[in-house]
Amino acid sequence: MFHKPEMMDALADYGPARYVIFGVPYDGTSSYRQGSRWAPDAMRQASANFETYNAYFDIDYGDLLIHDAGNLETYVTVNETLEELTLAVEPIVADGKLPIMLGGEHSLTLPCVKACAKYAGEDIGFVVLDAHFDLREEYSGVKYSHACVSRHVISEVTERYVSIGVRSGPREEWAFAKDKGIKYYTSDDVREKGIRDVISEVTDYLGCSKIYLSLDMDALDPAYAPGLGTPEPFGLSDIEVREVIHALAPRSIGFDIVEIAPEYDNGQSALLGTKLLREFIAAHAASERGL
Ligand code: MN
Ligand code: MN
Repeated sequence: MFHKPEMMDALADYGPARYVIFGVPYDGTSSYRQGSRWAPDAMRQASANFETYNAYFDIDYGDLLIHDAGNLETYVTVNETLEELTLAVEPIVADGKLPIMLGGEHSLTLPCVKACAKYAGEDIGFVVLDAHFDLREEYSGVKYSHACVSRHVISEVTERYVSIGVRSGPREEWAFAKDKGIKYYTSDDVREKGIRDVISEVTDYLGCSKIYLSLDMDALDPAYAPGLGTPEPFGLSDIEVREVIHALAPRSIGFDIVEIAPEYDNGQSALLGTKLLREFIAAHAASERGL
C-alpha cells in the first residue's frame, strides 16, 4: 500500500464537513529564515501520533466532520498567492464551514480574516498570539509581508484587535502601538497577570461574539517550539497557549497556525502545533455539542 500524509481524523468529505483544514505552503516574504512551506505536511505526519479521543472534552475526533482539503497551489509573489488564497477560502466560509489554515507564513492570515469578516454578518474581533507586533506598514518594500499582517488586519478588517505574547519589535512599532491605543499583552504581562485574567480582559475588551484566532507559533517560547522562522526567547508556555485556545475556540469563526519551520527542529514544533490544532477543534466542537 502506498501512503500519503493525511491529517488524522480528517475523514469527512467536503460536503458535510464542519471544519475544513487546508495547507498553504508559502514562505516567500519570511524575513529571517524560510521553511514554513514544509509545515502543513509536517503537521499531517505529526497527527498520526495522537489518539482519536480527547478526554478533557470527552470528544472523539472520529465522530466530528473534519475535512482536509490538501494544500493550496502557491505562486512566487505574495500578492498572487494571497489572491489564490482568497478564491479558495471565501467559498469555504460562504458554505458555513469553519476554515482552519495551516501556514506557511503569517501574511496568509489576512485573506482568511477578510473572508470570515465578509460573511459574519456583524463586527468580528481578531486575536493573535505572536512574539512580534507585525504592525509595519511595509517590510523591505513588501506591503503584504509576514511582518505587516496585524497592521493590515487593523486597517482593512477590524479594529477589535488584541495581541498576546508580544515581546519583539523596533522602537517605532512599540511607539505606534501605544500611540494608537492598540491592545496587547506581552509575555511578561501574561506571567504577571496570569493567562486566565488576560483571557477574561480580552473577551471583555473585544465585546463581540465572533472572533478570528491566529496562532503565530513564535508566540511560544522556543523551548517549546524551536522550529520557527523567527524564534524569540522568553515566550508563552504550551499550557498558556492551550488556555487561550480552549477559551476562545467556542467563539472563533476561523483559525490558523502559521510560521512553523520544521527543518529547524526534530519535529516538536509541528507536533505541538498539531496538538493545539486538535485542542482548538475539540474545544469548538464541545461548545456546539449542546446546541
Ligand atoms: Mn506574526
Ligand atoms: Mn511572529
